Amino acid sequence: MRIVFIGPPGAGKGTQCKRLVEFLGIPHLSTGEMLRQVKKQDTALGRWIASYLDAGQLAPDHLVMRIVAHRLSKPDCKEGCLFDGFPRNVAQAELLNDHLRSVGTQLDLVLDLAVVEEELIDRLLRRAKIESRMDDNYETIKARLKVFYTQTSPLLEYYRNLGLLAQVDGMQGPDQVFGQIKQAVLARMSERLEKRP
Ligand code: AMP
Repeated sequence: MRIVFIGPPGAGKGTQCKRLVEFLGIPHLSTGEMLRQVKKQDTALGRWIASYLDAGQLAPDHLVMRIVAHRLSKPDCKEGCLFDGFPRNVAQAELLNDHLRSVGTQLDLVLDLAVVEEELIDRLLRRAKIESRMDDNYETIKARLKVFYTQTSPLLEYYRNLGLLAQVDGMQGPDQVFGQIKQAVLARMSERLEKRP
């Protein structure tokens, strides 16, 4: 299965993605993590990427698509994968569709994890203390949420129109959230099996 996981920063995407990849036995493709790895390198590319990450802004679409396409070409992605944090806007969604089509495949499901804004800010500030992530200070958190609401949330309509979207209530406890996610995944799996010739 090829699944996209959408959710604002702080919605608990990381935790749920981890559980889902273990459940399905597919690789976890987090573009945030991939970009943080590039940022760590003392190179011109690393410093360029850092300028976007540290400001809470999106890195350029084509660059992110190139990094993802490279990862998708690895043998462990043959049977599927979980996209975490990608696509982040409609332009990236179209790049991803084109890429998947060009290699003869497609997305199966898009999960959206919904959490209200005040709760997100609280969770992110708590995480900042624990993980000391450079992009988890108050100003950057506000910038990242703004980016989510203006650039990423239009994706929900985009994927709803493609019949791919399943929404999950992220305000519940982690086990209940994962229960809903499993239900959505299993429902889509059985739909896909029924459609097989
Ligand atoms: P995340 O770990 O998914 O919250 O991402 C952390 C940061 O990495 C974001 O605030 C962006 O600066 C950058 N980033 C992650 N994924 C993408 C993407 N798909 N497109 C552009 N920038 C991204």
